[in-house]
Amino acid sequence: MFLTISTTGTPERPATDLGFLLHKHPEKAQAFSTSYGTAHVVYPEASDERCTAALLLEVDPVALVRRGKGKGKGRGGAPDAALAQYVNDRPYAASSLLAVALSAVFSSAMRGVCAARPERAAQPLPLRIQVPALPARGGAELVRGLFEPLGWTVEATPVPLDERFPEWGESRYVRLVLDVPEGRLTLGEALRHLYVLLPVLDDAKHYWVSPDEVDKLLRAGEGWLAAHPEQKVITDRYLARRWSLTREARERLELVRLAEADDTDVEEIDNAVDEETDTDEQPVPLAVRRRTAILAELAASGASRVLDLGCGQGQLVQELLKDVRYTEIVGVDVSVRALTVAARRLKLDRMGERRAERVTLTQGSLAYTDKRLKGYDAAVLSEVVEHLDIERLPALEYAVFGSARPRTVLVTTPNVEYNVRWETLPAGHARHGDHRFEWTREEFRAWAHRVAERHGYDVRFEPVGDEDPEVGPPTQLAAFTRQDKNATPGNDKKKEVRAA
Ligand code: SAH
Repeated sequence: MFLTISTTGTPERPATDLGFLLHKHPEKAQAFSTSYGTAHVVYPEASDERCTAALLLEVDPVALVRRGKGKGKGRGGAPDAALAQYVNDRPYAASSLLAVALSAVFSSAMRGVCAARPERAAQPLPLRIQVPALPARGGAELVRGLFEPLGWTVEATPVPLDERFPEWGESRYVRLVLDVPEGRLTLGEALRHLYVLLPVLDDAKHYWVSPDEVDKLLRAGEGWLAAHPEQKVITDRYLARRWSLTREARERLELVRLAEADDTDVEEIDNAVDEETDTDEQPVPLAVRRRTAILAELAASGASRVLDLGCGQGQLVQELLKDVRYTEIVGVDVSVRALTVAARRLKLDRMGERRAERVTLTQGSLAYTDKRLKGYDAAVLSEVVEHLDIERLPALEYAVFGSARPRTVLVTTPNVEYNVRWETLPAGHARHGDHRFEWTREEFRAWAHRVAERHGYDVRFEPVGDEDPEVGPPTQLAAFTRQDKNATPGNDKKKEVRAA
């Protein structure tokens, strides 16, 4: 297994600084023993203009099999694959083992630490990475899909099965050349890309995937994985499709993404828009009208224990707290930042004990079932569904209507038809940068009827805000009521098992 890292330089900034950055001297050939064999670091070229470091991993297949004993087996763990454990492509192909060696041999460089040249470690430098034989399940196309969004120019040439017999076709290996010009990536970033993406391409992680793999993945993925378009493939494959781990990774990445996203205050936008269009002397902001409508629905439902799902910065929680009929109020949001603002708004730390007992703010994602959400009278999803990718919506539906199953569920969402009435909104634009979709009245109703039918609820619809004769109200509200008022927890359990 073989990988080279090259850079170019000038007399003022010599390429041989690579030796400092990697913490490996260009004039010495060094060997390191790792759990799977010996890793060698040599420099085939080292001048001011060009410097190349080569990492060669000499794998010991026997040690590899021994280590795997009694632990998780990768593919080929069947008894008749016993021989294949010894006779395989491991010693020759770059793979997850190379990634392990990379992190063992270049750990400081991967973390971007360089005591001798600290300023160089932080500087993006021109780089070329070459891997002559890389197993790539998914082919050259996936290789490009993984590296190009990170700024690399990718040359991935499929390797023929046998050069003498081209008619045999291509092997699952590619010859990979990655280039990045000056000014884009630091060496640490480049190494972290390789550390994660080589095993992703190999997709046959040989060693036991332990729970701390999620930490390793997120640490190496810092700054690039949360926004990567192929994030799902990367987490699934890196974590060997272990569902509990991929779920945790994706939840944590979602947090990162939301923290990074420009989370403009929804209320601010609504207010600005209202001022433009309302002719009343003192227009009531749409966000306030929405809360008023929700509070009226909740009061009519007789609920006293209420979930505010996607509570954002806690405006509704604050209103609910003022009304003593609500004895237990739980605000849930995936964004820690939003929850921090909510806690400040509510002055949670200075609140009297009686009041504090009625309210909980908790971090969680609605895309996953959560036992803590069971047994409440009502749940509010105010301007939340449109923040989820549409393909993740069924997961939210199940988590709320199938698993948590409160008697009342209130859902509000923008009516996209009304957008033509907002003069400040360019045609075809969503009202908020993070909206993944916005529905017409018909689309919202069709969705709500489908959900109601699937989970045993009745549903009716109410307008929020001034209704326009043509395009309807700015906000639409669906009020769901569970049909089986005495649903036993046992029933819910069964459904959960089926869905799992
Ligand atoms: N309910 C509030 C906030 C709406 S903004 C209001 O009506 O003003 C949407 C909120 O949903 C944001 O705070 C966002 O962090 C949260 N959110 C988005 N996706 C989520 C998810 N998967 N799980 C939980 N909350 C989510």
